[in-house]
Formats: sequence, structure tokens, C-alpha cells
Amino acid sequence: MSDFLSDDYAGAADAADPLQHFRAQFHMPRFGDVEQAYFVGNSLGLQPRGARAQVEDVLDKWAMEAVEGHFRGNSQWMTYHALVGAQLAEVVGAQPEEVVAMNSLTANLHFLMVGFYRPTPERPAILMEAGAFPSDRYALESQVRFHGFDPATDLIEVQPSSDGLFGMDAIAAAIEEHGHRLALVLWPGVQYRTGEAFDLAEIVRLGHAAGAVVGFDLAHAAGNLPLQLHDSDTDFAVWCHYKYLNSGPGAVAGAFVHARHAMTDRPRFAGWWGHDAATRFRMGPDFQPTPGADGWQLSNPPILGLAPLRASLDLFTDAGMPALRAKSEALTGYLETLIRSELDTVLDVVTPRDAGRRGAQLSLRVRGGREQGRSLFEYLSDNGVLGDWREPDVIRISPAPLYNTHADVLRFVRTVARWRDA
Ligand SMILES: *Cc1c(COP(=O)(O)O)cnc(C)c1O
Repeated sequence: MSDFLSDDYAGAADAADPLQHFRAQFHMPRFGDVEQAYFVGNSLGLQPRGARAQVEDVLDKWAMEAVEGHFRGNSQWMTYHALVGAQLAEVVGAQPEEVVAMNSLTANLHFLMVGFYRPTPERPAILMEAGAFPSDRYALESQVRFHGFDPATDLIEVQPSSDGLFGMDAIAAAIEEHGHRLALVLWPGVQYRTGEAFDLAEIVRLGHAAGAVVGFDLAHAAGNLPLQLHDSDTDFAVWCHYKYLNSGPGAVAGAFVHARHAMTDRPRFAGWWGHDAATRFRMGPDFQPTPGADGWQLSNPPILGLAPLRASLDLFTDAGMPALRAKSEALTGYLETLIRSELDTVLDVVTPRDAGRRGAQLSLRVRGGREQGRSLFEYLSDNGVLGDWREPDVIRISPAPLYNTHADVLRFVRTVARWRDA
């Protein structure tokens, strides 16, 4: 085990990494004279070096062409959102017309629920995970109330077992128990607190068999795990682009609407940018939706906000999700192995051990409780190792395969060991 702990081992693993050159494509935050060991790509991904040029391109176009920037050149603003469609579709396993970059994550959740959460007195309920990211719970609860139903009975929260994890059996049992009352199953691709990943195709199968619509919040899954949204028959999905997708704070978010629903007559809140592009500028009074995900857009998009996404997606296209996932499994596996062998008295790994049930992130409960946890977390930060803190006693560490290295992981492990031995 101890040779895993050597610089030679980590160095050799990094030298053999076919994706090693991608790190140089990012701005690594500094820590004094060295780089930070940055493990918070699940919260805010690092800036791709190409992002600035994309933003400047928009600023230059605006400066020089002003309103004509809407109609001129390859990156004209009229169709700018479509520039990212094909690459984004590749990242989430969709067809290009099934995805769109628009709005923000929580806004997309609400807007898509206008069409995909259609409760009736017989089937009023939404099934979600207990302990969800607060914004999701707020959104779902307010939707239930908006439709005149009662969250106490109609927002059904599946409880995790004592280790904080769900497992597919609990999800299947909940869908079985409540299926006849479910209008919607809304589940995360990766649970943000524990890092547990789910068999999304199986959740779709179970949800559909029960007669429910199935949607996903992929905030922690997009750009982290290979996804098959189209093939799994997922009805809709939403995600953000500032976590694993490295597109900057508050970046324009993503949405997926399955091709089956391309010409849907489901209700939607309409806006002019969702109108059929061919006739949008006739400015007629009647809304004719563009088929597919584009038809759910409301407004002309914030072009400056979309620009960094182009730079980031170029990197995902170059690397490819299968290679990224292979490196991610290796890197997170290395982290887990070292924690279990060297830091077992300090850290308890909350995230599932099975690589098939997690993405990049490991959630680590600090033994000894909150005070110990805060002390370790601050020691790490003071030494240039950045994770993030979740109350009451969890540190989340997410090695991102585009820019983290085995050497970063080793630095984390050694820093925790120094804190323990101090
Ligand atoms: C990050 C995250 C959000 C954040 O929502 P915004 O609308 O982007 O502010 C919401 N839900 C989940 C599950 C998240 O991980």
C-alpha cells in the first residue's frame, strides 16, 4: 500500500494519463508560489483558458457591429445558443434538438414542470429524495402548492437509510408504494451531499411503468458521468453549467426535452425565443413553438453568459466523456484507496464504494464531529487544499478529471495526515 503514497507512484500515474495536457487549458488558482489543490469543481469549475477569448469575441462584435451582430458571421447572436447544441448533446447523451442552454437551473426546473408536472386529484404527487438540495425542494413544494395540492401528502420524500444513501431498492419500493398517485418522479443524477449516483435508466423504467413522468436534476451529474438521456427515455432534465461544466459563476443552464415530446401540446409558459425561428420576426400574435428543446426558450439569451460554455464544451468534445470517466474512476479510486488505508481514523467515506454508484466526488465525514471537522477543513484551506464543507461534519472532495492529478490527491492525503499528527 505504501508505494501508492509515494511521489513516484503519483508522478508515474500522471505521466501515463492520456488527458494530462488538459490541465494546462485551465487557470489553476494560486496558493502563494504554487497552485492550489482544487477539489471544488463540483461547486464552481475552473476557468478554461479559452473562455476569455470567447467573451472578448462577443464584446468585440458588440463594439464593432452593434445590432448587426445579431445577423453577421458564424457566431451571430440570433442563433448563438445553437452553437453549443451538438456538443452539449454529446455530453448528456441526447440528440442536438433535445437540449438547449437557457435561463438558470432552478428556473428551468420550474419552466419544464409547467409542462411535465400535470397533477390531477387522482395523481397529484411528486416523488423526490429527502435531503435534496434546498432549491429543488423549494421549487417542487411551491409547484405542488401552486396547483392547489398539499405538500404534506403530495410531496413524497424518499428517506435514505441510516448511512445517508438510497440505493435502487429503496427507490423501487417507493415507486411501487406510491406509484398510483405519482404525477412526477424528480430525482438527482448524483446526490449533492453524499455523491451517490443512480441508475437513471432504471428510474425512468420504474417511473414510466407506474404511469409517472420522470425528470432529473443533473446539476452534479452533467459533465461528471456519461449520461444516456435519449436512450433511457427520460422525459426531461435540467442542469447547471458552472459545476463540472466549467462555464463560470451563474452560467446559463441546460435543459433536455425528449424527442418524443418535441411537438408536445403540453402547456408551457411561452416567450418569443421559443417561437418557430423561421417566422419569429414576423412578430405575429400567435405562438408557434419551435419543435424540441428550443421551443421552451423564453428570451433572447445572455450571449456574454453563454460565451464561456463554448470554450468549455470544446474541451469536453476533445476529451470525450468515456475517457473522462475512465480517468475520473481512476482518480477518485486512488483517493478512496488512500483514505481507507491511511486516514481511516480520521475520515469515514460516506459515498458508495462501488464506482458504478458514484461520480467524481467523495463525501468524507470527519470522525469526532463538527469541531474536528471544522479544524481539519480550515487546516486544509490554510495549506492550499480546497474542498467544501457541508454541515455538520462533511468535507466534499471532487477530483475533476479535466484538471486534477494524482499528485493533487496525494497532497490532500498528506495534508490530512499532517493535521492528524500535529
Ligand atoms: C447547484 C445546485 C442548484 C443550484 O441552483 P441554481 O438555480 O443554479 O442557483 C440546484 N439544485 C441542485 C441539485 C444543485 O446541485
